[in-house]
Parts: sequence; structure tokens; C-alpha cells
Amino acid sequence: MKLLLLGSGGREHALAWKIAQSPKIEKLYIAPGNAGTGSVGENVNIKADDFSSIKAFVLDNNINMVVVGPEDPLVKGIYDYFQKDSELNKIPVIGPSQKGATLEGSKEFAKAFMMRHNIPTAGYKSITSANLQEGLDFLETLEAPYVLKADGLCAGKGVLILPTLEEAKKELQEMLSGMFGDASATVVIEEFLSGIECSVFVLSDGKNYKVLPVAKDYKRIGEGDKGLNTGGMGSVTPVPFADAAWMKKVDERIIRPTVEGLAQEGIDYKGFIFLGLINVKGEPMVIEYNVRMGDPETESVMLRVKSDLVELFEGVAAGNLDEKVLEEDPRTAVSVMLVSGGYPEHYDKGFPISGLDQVKDSIVFHAGTTMKDGQVVTNGGRVLAISSYGNNKDEALAQSFSAAKLIDFEKKYFRSDIGFDL
Ligand code: ATP
Repeated sequence: MKLLLLGSGGREHALAWKIAQSPKIEKLYIAPGNAGTGSVGENVNIKADDFSSIKAFVLDNNINMVVVGPEDPLVKGIYDYFQKDSELNKIPVIGPSQKGATLEGSKEFAKAFMMRHNIPTAGYKSITSANLQEGLDFLETLEAPYVLKADGLCAGKGVLILPTLEEAKKELQEMLSGMFGDASATVVIEEFLSGIECSVFVLSDGKNYKVLPVAKDYKRIGEGDKGLNTGGMGSVTPVPFADAAWMKKVDERIIRPTVEGLAQEGIDYKGFIFLGLINVKGEPMVIEYNVRMGDPETESVMLRVKSDLVELFEGVAAGNLDEKVLEEDPRTAVSVMLVSGGYPEHYDKGFPISGLDQVKDSIVFHAGTTMKDGQVVTNGGRVLAISSYGNNKDEALAQSFSAAKLIDFEKKYFRSDIGFDL
């Protein structure tokens, strides 16, 4: 089969690495890809949300399946674009319909969906400038800290957690008056939940589903998970507290009602569901839905998927995922992100990366890299994800840290405490 994967980050390199191992793959293209995806497939210079160029490429190259990495093309409706086009509608797109992608694209929609299906999540109120007073009153009923979320996509920056009522009230008004543009015209005020978080990934054909290895990611720039939020500094799988008993609760209370709820509401969903969960005194609750794999979780989770991912995708497309097997590698896998000094604030790009060929026992996934005059150079804040196996977390991390020292570029930075709380 000829498969086109959309996206350009570390997540897409990890997906491409896994897809390329399938004997079913005759040709793998990645649009637009990065310096790493080019080593497992062929990069195509098309943006992941340029639907008309994607259409032309798919038809010209007889593509049999499209897998969508990031949320943007999903929220913009790439699934529906294929469905509605008589030349494209036989080609499966792995990813939800635009309506399904609203689970990520609108926090208000996601919360209301969870309410409709009795899925455990924090209490909330949805506020616009028309019912501001209701929002201010609701904040009075909550205890500190206060959680305010812009309804729309804000590249991970739309959530504010505020220590005092005064600040919460002030920020609510600023958000509503355009702090995040249209994305914060509606703000979701939530009860604060206290606990440890993890990421659960589900692959669904709309009726049946498979649960992938559970991972934990580390979002903050500094050690001890302090400082500014980032796209993710590392990940670990498995997560010890997500044991069989806990996952049974997750399955019964969250995954099954989500998949059934989508089907009941007539929402087409053939793709990944990412559940951002929090363990509140032993009980799983949903913090957020995303409609694609997580980054940097994919860079560890893919190491633990033993089965042929393309065969699972075929099950998604055909609606017979129940007949497929998802076998997990019992080992631990971790991923440690090397980032540009200064990230997530100002940083420079274009620094040559050395030592990549010296890494033997880890898998290096490229995120923000590009080729310049035959040399791999930095091209983003998060540059490389160094993924390793181990018999336990410490072994796997030691492996990634030793590889992290072999690779060099100006102002390289990484967190050396990934997995510290597990
Ligand atoms: P990202 O893109 O980084 O995944 P997001 O902008 O989609 O995030 P959320 O995941 O909903 O937003 O929130 C970001 C983070 O804020 C969560 O990972 C969690 O740590 C914290 N958070 C969100 N909601 C709550 C809550 N109700 N109680 C406690 N913490 C919360």
C-alpha cells in the first residue's frame, strides 16, 4: 500500500518509523515531514492543511490511505473533505470527522459531551461576555486555584491556572475581551482537580477500539516540572498507577461511554482519541480530549506497539478493528526531548547538529530539524526526541541520557528528571 502521513513533528517521525516497519507498506510519503522522516519515507513539500494540494498528490500518486498526525487538518475538516469528494471518498483517512475533532477544537463542546454521557470530569460553567456575571458568581463558589480555559485551540497556551479569586476574575474578563482572539470568546471555568496525570490513547473504528500503552508526559521546561509550559519535554510508558484495576475503571467510565457516545450522536470517528486523564484519589477523571496522538508521548508509545500499525489502521478503515490484535511490548520506553536553549521563549535556529550517527542504542526522532547544505540543523524549539527501551524506567532513561550527551548543538538543553514522579 501507498500511505501518506500528514505532519512534521516528532510525533510524525515516530509514526512514520512504525508505519515503515509494516510489510504492507510499498511506499510511505510524509507531508511535509522533517529531516528525520526523510530517512524512513519520502518527504513531500505540502503543508498538512493544504487540502487541494493533498488531493492532487493523493490522486497523482495512487495513495491508498491517509494518516493525519496533527489536530489542525482534522479541526479544519480533512476527513469530511475526502468523504465529500467523489474522487477521494474511497480513500480512508485515519482521523475523525470535523464534528469529532470538535472534542479537541472546543472545550465547551467536550465538556457538554462528557455531561451528556456521564463521563467523569471537573464541574464547569461556560461563559461568554453575555453571561459574564454568572462567571464571576461561579468563581465565588470555587476554591483556589482557579482554572480558566479558552474554548478554542490556542497551541497549549489557552489554559490559565490562577492562585487568587481577584486574578481569576480579572483574567476572565481579559480572556473574554480577546486575549486569545476568537478562541477565548467563550471561556470554560473549571473546578481544580488535584492528582497525577497520564495520557491514554485509543484507536477506534467508530464502534470497536483498542487501547494503546499508557504514557505520562512532562510539560514544563524546568526540573521538578517547574517553569513555563512547553509542547512536552519527555515521556514515559508504562505508568505504574495505571494498573489493570485503574484501567478497568477508565474503560468502563470513560473510553466505552466516549466511543458509544460518539456513535449515538452520529459523529464519524475513525482515528485516535487521546484522553488526558487525572487520577483523583484513585478515580480517573478527564482533563481534556485530543483527537490525535500526543507529542512527546508517541515517541515512547510507538516503541511499545508490537503489532503492525498499518494492519490496525486497516481495521479502523474497514470497521473490523475487533478482529485485529494490539500486542504491547512489556518493556519500559521513554523519550527525552532535546530543545533549543531559550525555548519556550526566544531561541535561535539553524545550528548544526552533530553526533547523530554515534547513537547506537536509542532511537532518535526528529522534531524541529531541517537539512541545510547536506547538514541536519535545528529548526524549532523542540529539536530531537531520544527514545529508548529498558527493563525499567531507570534503565531506559540512562540510555536516553547517554545518547543525549553524544548529540550536540549550540545551546542544547534537556530535562534530566523525566519520570521523577513515577
Ligand atoms: P495541551 O495542549 O497542553 O494538552 P490544553 O491547552 O489543551 O493543553 P488542557 O489539557 O485542558 O489544555 O489543560 C492544560 C493543563 O492544565 C493540563 O494538562 C493540566 O495540568 C492543567 N489543568 C487543566 N484543567 C485542570 C483542572 N480542572 N484541574 C487541574 N489542572 C487542570
